Amino acid sequence: MYEVDGMVQGAEAKMKGSAAEAVKVVVRCRPMNEQETANGHKRVVDMDVDRGVVELRNIKALDTDPRKTFTFDAVYDWNSKQQELYDETFRPLIESVLCGFNGTIFAYGQTGTGKTYTMEGIRDDPEHRGVIPNSFEHIFNHIARSVNQQYLIRASYLEIYQEEIRDLLGKDQKKRLELKERPDTGVYVRDLQQFVCKSVNEIQHVMTVGNQNRAVGSTNMNLHSSRSHAIFIITIECSDVDEKGKSRIRVGKLNLVDLAGSERQSKTGTVGDRLKEATKINLSLSALGNVISALVDGKSTHIPYRDSKLTRLLQDSLGGNSKTIMVANIGPASYNYDETITTLRYANRAKNIKNKPKINEDPKDAILREYQQELARLKAQLTQRGGKKKKKKKRVDGDEGEGEEEEDEEGIDEESILQQQHELDEERNRILNDQHMIEEEKERFLLELKNKEAELIATREAQEKLMTRIQTMESKLLSGGKNIIDHTNEQQRALQQRTQELMDQKKREREMLQLLEKEEESSCEIASTFSSLQAEVEAKTRKLKKLFAKLQSVKQEMGDLHEEFCRDRVDLQNTQDVLTRELKLKALIIENFISPEEKRKILSRAFFDDDEDIWKLRPVVRQTGGTLKRPVSSASRRPTSEYAKMQASVDHNPRYKGENIMVVELDPAVRTTRDWEGPLVAPRVAAALEAALMPLDEDLSIDASLATLNRSQAVRSTRKEKTKGKFKSGLRPPSQVPDSSMYPKSRGLVPK
Ligand code: ADP
Ligand code: MG
Repeated sequence: MYEVDGMVQGAEAKMKGSAAEAVKVVVRCRPMNEQETANGHKRVVDMDVDRGVVELRNIKALDTDPRKTFTFDAVYDWNSKQQELYDETFRPLIESVLCGFNGTIFAYGQTGTGKTYTMEGIRDDPEHRGVIPNSFEHIFNHIARSVNQQYLIRASYLEIYQEEIRDLLGKDQKKRLELKERPDTGVYVRDLQQFVCKSVNEIQHVMTVGNQNRAVGSTNMNLHSSRSHAIFIITIECSDVDEKGKSRIRVGKLNLVDLAGSERQSKTGTVGDRLKEATKINLSLSALGNVISALVDGKSTHIPYRDSKLTRLLQDSLGGNSKTIMVANIGPASYNYDETITTLRYANRAKNIKNKPKINEDPKDAILREYQQELARLKAQLTQRGGKKKKKKKRVDGDEGEGEEEEDEEGIDEESILQQQHELDEERNRILNDQHMIEEEKERFLLELKNKEAELIATREAQEKLMTRIQTMESKLLSGGKNIIDHTNEQQRALQQRTQELMDQKKREREMLQLLEKEEESSCEIASTFSSLQAEVEAKTRKLKKLFAKLQSVKQEMGDLHEEFCRDRVDLQNTQDVLTRELKLKALIIENFISPEEKRKILSRAFFDDDEDIWKLRPVVRQTGGTLKRPVSSASRRPTSEYAKMQASVDHNPRYKGENIMVVELDPAVRTTRDWEGPLVAPRVAAALEAALMPLDEDLSIDASLATLNRSQAVRSTRKEKTKGKFKSGLRPPSQVPDSSMYPKSRGLVPK
């Protein structure tokens, strides 16, 4: 155990001393999937794991064209195992987080290349478990083996989709969270849930719940996950005693980021909301790219962290005080060539970011400190209660020995309560059985006893509450050393250490190889002497050939980059065109349909919210002064004579009133309706109806001519005046009334 301790401390010292440290970039290529194999796709990616080199062939290019070569901190080919990645690349980072550094792991790459596989993998399968579940195990194992340290582990899980932050552990999944900034602790997500986790199972449960929520919010999970960023955050607080015997708290925060798919989103041809969506989907990702470019550029004074939520939130991880690893995931097949090369270029740039990791010692927002203080307070409270109890006890039976006070307070307390309970029972029995006592006195004693008992129970309950509170709080604080003598544990640790050493060695070898290669390229064999001219020519020709090939590849790379740049530029220009068109349309609408007064009002209310990066409107404030003044009181409006004042009190004539108010009696409205009376049927019509309802032998024909109807005044309504007038005005002049002969004859009500 001392070995490990010593090792960790040694590593710590080493890490503390190191100033700038580059972002570590590793590339992982997934195997061909069944479909790709079935479709006969060719693999265009070659990987030299020992040297950390990726080579890419373009099947469209000529055979003579040089391959694209990239060198990284490590590369993992299709045969790589999750555990291997963890031990070699991620374990040291998690170890640093346990020491109080901030750490971040990004998975970057096109959709379907294994980002989620690398981060999460298949959780129930130990072989395919990704870095997140592996880190859970690692962290809790570390704690179990720790000595004289107390840990508090918290987990949060969030998602950024279209620039909106959603808490995947929150109760209300519709709620969107905001980013806030504090000068002492930096950028944070307001109201983000944090769950204290006491074991691997608990933290795994947190992750499961988050993943379920992630799936629930989306209709198409594949599309959704390829367009959103998921960030799992583990905060590790550790308290221990330093060399000088001073207690200290170190806080490490681990961000595990599964980024959105990096594939190019087509923006051309989209308008309106769809365009907005398309621009927003990868806004965070392109902002990430811009931040990386600005960081490695060396000339930029402004790093555009504020351009997106993701870059703001992970500001520390890029050029800040975090230790950062980027995993660039690529696909092996030829049809992925374009995306693969873009990913590799992106990763290649990220290699040059320099961070300045530092341990967070005694930060203001450490919760562990609060916990410890609260615990101490509660314990003190408990002790105080215990003290009181003892005094009471002493009073009850004065012959208690003094020595008992030295005993464990909690124990004696519990005991004393039991004893008191017992004594009370005895007392009660004694009183009940006492024949000489008067009934009244008996009752009084019994009541007193009852009160005493109630008091005892209350204290007992309070005490128990306090105890459980202390226990729950204590259970959240984790510490190791429980089975420190455990043999298997010891062996495991030794094994792990050996694996770690092996991995370190491998890493060193790779670094040496890379260094050697670099040196070989740059040194010009100045010192070498040649036995003959011939040898010199040969050597120089070889050198020339090599350099020429290099030149060609650099030239080609330049061409490619230029091409890519042009493509991006056209893309941006297109977006800009569409946006300009939209803007013009809106301006046109405002110009022509919105009154200048209204526009001015809205403009005066608009302000830019820095925290949320959007324009907002201030609420409307009612103006108390100025335009909205109370009208001048009627009394003082104009000079009034005494006579007028007197008249005003008796006469209601408005001329004596101070206000311009007319007293108007309510006018009863003129009635425009009549009561229903039922139709009056003319005798002729009645006769006709009767005739019509009789069974007929002969054919009847209807004369639908309006003129006929009118002339005969067939139906007389009771609303005579009105309907009549209307009827008349709507009537065509008699000359235009079509002749009845124009209509076909049919059976009808009116006989001919
Ligand atoms: P992404 O999250 O980048 O969209 P996934 O992680 O979902 O991609 O991976 C897509 C598929 O490829 C999954 O079925 C996954 O199991 C598989 N896969 C990815 N990487 C590997 C790998 N290294 N080994 C085996 N299978 C892999
Ligand atoms: Mg994914």
